[in-house]
Amino acid sequence: MQDLINKITKRYQSDKTRLVDILLDIQNERGFLSRDDFGELAKNLKLSKAEVCETASFYHFFTFQKAKYKIYLNDSLTSEMAGHDKVVAALEQECNTTFGSMSEDGRFSLEKTSCIGMSDQEPAALINGIPFTQLTPYRVKELIADLKSGKELKESIYEALGDGRNADPLVHSMVNNHIRKRGAILTEDYKPFDVIETKLCTRSPEEIITIVEGSNIRGRGGAGFPTGLKWKFGRLTKADHRVIICNADEGEPGTFKDRVLLTEFPELVFEGMVIGAFATGADIGVLYLRYEYKYLLEYLNGVLDDMRKNGYLGKEINGYKHFNFDIRIQLGAGAYVCGEESALIESMEGKRGEPRDKPPFPVEKGYLGYPTIVNNVETLASIVKIIKNGAAWFDSMGTSDSSGTKILSVSGDCLFPGIYEVEWGTTISDVLEMAGAYDVQAIQVGGPSGMLMGPKGFNRTLSYSDLATGGSMIVFNHTRDILRDVVLNFMDFFIEESCGSCSTCRIMPVVLKDKLLKILNGYGVESDIADIASWGKLLRISRCGLGQTAGNPILTSLSNFRNLYEELIQKDKEFDAGFDLEKAVVESCNFVNRKPVFETH
Ligand code: SF4
Repeated sequence: MQDLINKITKRYQSDKTRLVDILLDIQNERGFLSRDDFGELAKNLKLSKAEVCETASFYHFFTFQKAKYKIYLNDSLTSEMAGHDKVVAALEQECNTTFGSMSEDGRFSLEKTSCIGMSDQEPAALINGIPFTQLTPYRVKELIADLKSGKELKESIYEALGDGRNADPLVHSMVNNHIRKRGAILTEDYKPFDVIETKLCTRSPEEIITIVEGSNIRGRGGAGFPTGLKWKFGRLTKADHRVIICNADEGEPGTFKDRVLLTEFPELVFEGMVIGAFATGADIGVLYLRYEYKYLLEYLNGVLDDMRKNGYLGKEINGYKHFNFDIRIQLGAGAYVCGEESALIESMEGKRGEPRDKPPFPVEKGYLGYPTIVNNVETLASIVKIIKNGAAWFDSMGTSDSSGTKILSVSGDCLFPGIYEVEWGTTISDVLEMAGAYDVQAIQVGGPSGMLMGPKGFNRTLSYSDLATGGSMIVFNHTRDILRDVVLNFMDFFIEESCGSCSTCRIMPVVLKDKLLKILNGYGVESDIADIASWGKLLRISRCGLGQTAGNPILTSLSNFRNLYEELIQKDKEFDAGFDLEKAVVESCNFVNRKPVFETH
């Protein structure tokens, strides 16, 4: 084992900031991590054993189980809506173990995980990093039988390969793109690297930034910060190196647009990074790819290799003097919070993905202390079209405060889940009509951190002044129990994903969930509704967006579906402890072998 650790740490020049890569490589080569190795690893990297342990214990996909096949089943809401429970039962039966454990023969381990970016084709699981979608008990039976008979995992894909470039030999995946509506970004009018060849040479970096500012594009990740301004700040900060990061860590349940962009248009995304580097003066580029999309890694590295061969990466790109820039792919290891830019940078530096206090902002002091511009996948793809067609072209689409188009990931109770590129200003009703969503009781816009709304809000428009969104939209018909099926699942998501640094974010989602359960179990009273309304707001003082929005499932359902809470509470009581006191006394007396005595009045 020592040899393997030495070989892998040498691969990264014993650079402690590459600890996540090193742990991933050890796990890849040996199948699992062992705490026994951490001492050696710490010595090689000049870290303490506790620091290695801290990182290794933070991420979902680091495993200490030796199973040959590690099965991670998505337990997010869209999976539950599509038959997740039946798949759980089938997996437990066929693999002969339970979730959270490994089979006795060491062949299978079963784990649950948050959204894996397949909400349009659930239930889905990752098996040793390979996605298996649209699982049913029958398919589980066939798949596990195949694996038991010794078939290779990739040969066990039980359907034809997916559409488009999912069938590329380097992807070889059964995932489908489900592109339902193409707009300015997803059109096929794109000639890879044409903008690098024909547009950069005639303009200065400052002119490129002026075009981006003129287009009024705002970051597509959800926060909506003006991209041109971010680039300008990055360029103005004095430093020896600057960094541009493409944030491909979309983890919001219901979101999968980056998966499709990276599969079908990776050149567009990488070209956007090169333009960003030219404009800001960055010489270091990193695509932070969520672990759930590891199946795209080899394919994406192939695209980067071709770019190097053709002079679109490396020294003096396309012959431009002093323009040196390259891109590497940093794989995440499974943590929703790493979608937050400073947490992502911590992760890239080999640490736990805990958000930093701000200021300083990454654009002043980010990755390894250098000014760092973090852009979303969709933003970078849009940039290429902006430079190609001009700022006015882009700004002419959308609304006065939201220019261009937005790529939506639509899932849940609709006939056509998938990707829709629409102009900003489109109404929710329009999107529901496109997706074939009927009998709609509610939709969740923007994932668990967004808003749950009923039909009264369906005439609202997607825009920064009305409904800003990172792009996830989940549809619920009238068969869904909004509080039990939706809100509870989202609260579990936040409880699971909190990094634990802030007491509000660590504690309040648990407290809120308990209150919700009290109401759902019939013990709620009016003051419980008042409590969750005010306690939910306490979360807003948390350090990062995850904690600040963790009360939203409760708060927005309370705003738009208050009647569902009212129907469940007891009207004739002012106080209820929330449990059956006599039953609890009997249970505890039984436990200590005493006879319960109750006073009678
Ligand atoms: Fe971590 Fe939550 Fe605090 Fe964000 S708000 S830093 S996720 S504890």
